[in-house]
Amino acid sequence: MSEIKDTVALSSQWMAAVRAIENQRPDGLFSDPIAAQLAGQEIIQKIAPSVQEYEDKGAPIVIVRTRFFDDFLMSVADSIRQVVILGAGMDTRAFRLSWFPNTHLYELEQPDVLKFKASRLGDAQAKCHRHPIEADLREPWSDLLLVKGYQPTVPTVWLLEGLLYYLTDKKVSELLTTITELSCPGSLLGADLINTEFLGSTETLSQHWKFGCDEPLDFFSNYGWQAEAIQPGEEGANFGRYTAKVYPRDVIGIKRGFLVKAKYS
Ligand code: SAM
Repeated sequence: MSEIKDTVALSSQWMAAVRAIENQRPDGLFSDPIAAQLAGQEIIQKIAPSVQEYEDKGAPIVIVRTRFFDDFLMSVADSIRQVVILGAGMDTRAFRLSWFPNTHLYELEQPDVLKFKASRLGDAQAKCHRHPIEADLREPWSDLLLVKGYQPTVPTVWLLEGLLYYLTDKKVSELLTTITELSCPGSLLGADLINTEFLGSTETLSQHWKFGCDEPLDFFSNYGWQAEAIQPGEEGANFGRYTAKVYPRDVIGIKRGFLVKAKYS
């Protein structure tokens, strides 16, 4: 399989590289043994200085985010048998979390990324029924999910990790509308967001960020989801590792990220 070239698609391997480095730590916040083969040594080496920089600042955001959503998913795994990860990239939760074996986990992602992932997975065995689905989430995608056996009448947990900011406001709105149409009461959702202070960057990856949200609770409420949002570093989202100062929410002009858990009822 040829390399992934597009920057946004490539970010999936960068995330895997961060997790591969974390996997080497004896005190790591999670275990991700196949992250290294998905990222590749070259990318791990390239990313390592930046991972150290975030660690030194007390802001290992990707690591904290991964653990936060691992905990979220495992907290509902007893009662949920349908999981949908949108923009899954090199996510390995199908392989590394303790699912009930009759759980169905759908990974939607751009075709090139999923093809690359398949070429790197080797003989890794999923712990549930894993369904990779090639999709551009800017286009209609419900039918792609339904045809693979997704049941809209069964409670689902959705995960949108590292995804929404790569879409325009309009595409985010369409995505949330589709998710809601496909969800029955009792469904759950995890997502991370950045606020609008982050937009307008010229840096390699963040120049592709298009969607920011300053009021996550109101945003999800518009689609019928009751959300709670926490900033990385706050109580419940630091895991003893995110030690950088977190500004109270009423301080304006601050770049903020939010980790969101929401319920549809
Ligand atoms: N969720 C994974 C994680 O946290 O490791 C990957 C996050 S990565 C930063 C962003 C991912 O979103 C990439 O894999 C990219 O291909 C995917 N993505 C962005 N726009 C997309 C689109 N329109 N359709 C499908 N996937 C998309």
